[in-house]
Amino acid sequence: MKQANNCALIVVDVQNGFTPGGNLAVAGADQIIPCINQLGTCFDTIVITQDWHPHNHISFASNHLGKQPFDTIQLPYGPQVLWPSHCVQGTQDAELHPALDLPTAQLIIRKGFHRNIDSYSAFMEADRHTSTGLAGYLKERGIDTVYIVGIATDFCVAWTAIDASKAGLNSYVIIDACKAIDMNGSLQHAWQEMLASGVQRISSRNILV
Ligand SMILES: [Zn+2]
Repeated sequence: MKQANNCALIVVDVQNGFTPGGNLAVAGADQIIPCINQLGTCFDTIVITQDWHPHNHISFASNHLGKQPFDTIQLPYGPQVLWPSHCVQGTQDAELHPALDLPTAQLIIRKGFHRNIDSYSAFMEADRHTSTGLAGYLKERGIDTVYIVGIATDFCVAWTAIDASKAGLNSYVIIDACKAIDMNGSLQHAWQEMLASGVQRISSRNILV
């Protein structure tokens, strides 16, 4: 069902790097893409995010002597999980997944391009000070409600949904159009934080009726 023009779909990080065959592949993450494509037909405003790191990015374990992927370190802005090198600017790993078919999307937000700051959220980088500008863009477009889909539920989707709520937007996560990494209970923890922040969980069935 076509959604009203105060609503936007935010499609988080559906890239080669996070899907099977990618450098930070999330198992089964390509399986949500047909659902996302269908949801795309229901929204006039679609925003896509794209993780977009320099090769020497601070979130890469390879840039920290003696550290392994999935270790956590302390940075000036707080704890940071270290990842395998992924979504390096200009590489095939960073490209949007070829099955993603959202021809009417109007904006691609690239995030994580500052060498010393990671950015899970589409709104605010991990230092919690540096804005991506997305809240202003949505506000100027008259959007007050966002529906969030993509990868990974427990990191970039969760942080985006929480920041949307903090920005005063009605924030919904469409659960069957997301895929989680889910390590050490991260998915359960993310849902606790999302629900506590006023994020609502819905199914694609609620939109595709
Ligand atoms: Zn990243």
